Amino acid sequence: MVTGGAGFVGSHLIDRLLERGDEVLCVDNLFTGTKRNIDHLSGHPRFEFMRHDVCFPLYVEVDEIYNLACPASPVHYQHDPVQTTKTSVHGAINMLGLAKRLRCKIFQASTSEVYGDPSVHPQTEAYWGNVNPIGIRSCYDEGKRCAETLFFDYHRQHGLEIKVARIFNTYGPRMHPSDGRVVSNFVMQALNNEPITLYGDGQQTRSFCYVDDLVAGFMAFMETGPEVSGPINLGNPVEFTIRELAELVVEMTGSTSELVFRPLPQDDPMQRKPDITLARGTLGWEPTIALRQGLVKTIDYFSQLAND
Ligand code: NAD
Ligand code: UDP
Ligand code: UDP
Repeated sequence: MVTGGAGFVGSHLIDRLLERGDEVLCVDNLFTGTKRNIDHLSGHPRFEFMRHDVCFPLYVEVDEIYNLACPASPVHYQHDPVQTTKTSVHGAINMLGLAKRLRCKIFQASTSEVYGDPSVHPQTEAYWGNVNPIGIRSCYDEGKRCAETLFFDYHRQHGLEIKVARIFNTYGPRMHPSDGRVVSNFVMQALNNEPITLYGDGQQTRSFCYVDDLVAGFMAFMETGPEVSGPINLGNPVEFTIRELAELVVEMTGSTSELVFRPLPQDDPMQRKPDITLARGTLGWEPTIALRQGLVKTIDYFSQLAND
């Protein structure tokens, strides 16, 4: 079962699971996801879609759970912040309750946002983070932190097999074109020859992982034995400033867009780069797709979307 399976990352995960021969139940309330992401699977004999909100109990019979249900971009998760916390926390409780009844392993899509605006760089799993508990990003950051707490308490208290991944910025086809994330914004702006909006001075950094690499990491993690619970960072450790990303997108699209500067949103982390020593050692995993390569496919996807 994949919750959030009609979203960007979840739909790619489902593709890979089906390719491997698994049966997949996709559970999604279509809040930020769309049926378009899973349209190509309708009629697939091993695929089933269920429209359901994970804030409510769910009684199904499955043997592995990937819990991805949660809005992920700042624009989406700040749209209804109370619902964001509920999805993270109530969603985790329900999915953990389900896993407990079924005695099945459960994967949690956590996030680099648990590190907040980090004072340790690059971020290792041992770092406890620097998160504002009352800011506009807190519904997501604290919601995901509480979900991690619940995962580890179900593990300690009920012996559940858990896999907690801390995902860093990921991009690729099927990102929502208006989710406000930096890659989708810049590519859409460049394709339309509109100004590229740099927040702040553009010197803040992110490290961008192509979605296929990320999904390979999820599946490798799920295959580990019960002694491996994480948290494990999954992301691409090559760091870029946001300005560098903007310049690369303009160059690759041949756009006439100008760079313009806009105010930096509150609590926007200034630097982010995963230390993936643990993932390399434990999962034998590391990203293989460079930003330039992944952007080719992402730009293609958004150009086609514009022509549809
Ligand atoms: P997305 O918004 O495309 O996908 C999330 C999916 O969850 C959507 O299909 C949405 O409809 C569904 N959903 C939201 N609330 C729900 C609810 N209450 N019940 C059922 N379904 C619900 O985002 P994404 O980028 O694919 O992110 C997937 C997961 O990975 C999220 O948990 C996110 O926090 C995590 N993550 C993503 C990134 C990234 O860079 N993409 C980084 C860190 C963590
Ligand atoms: N739950 C669920 N599906 C199940 C089993 C449990 O959705 O198959 C939900 C249930 O609604 C409960 C939550 O998971 O609120 C936590 O379950 P748990 O057994 O841990 O707690 P309890 O039922 O004792 O509150
Ligand atoms: N950003 C930007 N212009 C945009 C969208 C985002 O400069 O049009 C910046 C944003 O301020 C942040 C970085 O790009 O510093 C990554 O933003 P995103 O929302 O993609 O992810 P997150 O902040 O959650 O890592």
